[in-house]
Amino acid sequence: MLAGGILLAIRLWVMPEFPLLIVLLPLILYLVLAAWGSIRVKSNFYTPVICKGPENQKSVALTFDDGPSGINTLEVLEILQQHKIKAAFFCIGKHVDEHPEILQKLHEQGHLIGNHSYSHHPLFDLFTSKKVFKDLILANASIEKVIRKKPLLFRPPYGVTNPMLSAALQELKLISIGWSIRSFDTVLADKEKLLKRVTRKVKSGDIFLFHDKCKVTVQILPALIEYLIAEGFVIERVDDLLNITAYA
Ligand SMILES: [Zn+2]
Repeated sequence: MLAGGILLAIRLWVMPEFPLLIVLLPLILYLVLAAWGSIRVKSNFYTPVICKGPENQKSVALTFDDGPSGINTLEVLEILQQHKIKAAFFCIGKHVDEHPEILQKLHEQGHLIGNHSYSHHPLFDLFTSKKVFKDLILANASIEKVIRKKPLLFRPPYGVTNPMLSAALQELKLISIGWSIRSFDTVLADKEKLLKRVTRKVKSGDIFLFHDKCKVTVQILPALIEYLIAEGFVIERVDDLLNITAYA
């Protein structure tokens, strides 16, 4: 608002011959850029987000958000176990409180547990940095209570980053993990279409984003794993792919 007022003053008093749009253009461009940086997880506009692993080794990682789910997580777990694959689960704190036994199982079977906020609130992006901070601490506490380890890896709810989140992440020393292949499994109910989408251009270092609550994900997971293995990819845990530490 202040910047807009200053620009308007310049327009009126210093450069009356300039059209208003030209004077306001820098402000408009900044606002567009800020909005783009907020919704595009790969932009690194507000906070660094790691979205891909090294491209010089043929490895990829599977990640699952929003669990633990009482409906599908155990099925996902079973498929991963059958194929001897380790994955990452970015869990919502309130769901951990509802299903601590599932989280324990995920951890015991060697999967990585990350923080995906406590509330996953629809207005999370509008939380103050103090509120974000509290929410992330709550999620870590719920997870730590079960697995006795404090997660260091975080996935932003809805993939949105902003200055309030950035401040909280710095304070808590959490590392943001994004993705390079977004499945859209929460909206794509057709298993053929989903499998096609996620396998159409897989590259070394790719990080897949799925949701363990989605039935369609369970349906395509065996075929996806078999495809990746047949193509010569090694499926690693995301912290191994990125060579970073998962817990404090
Ligand atoms: Zn989510």
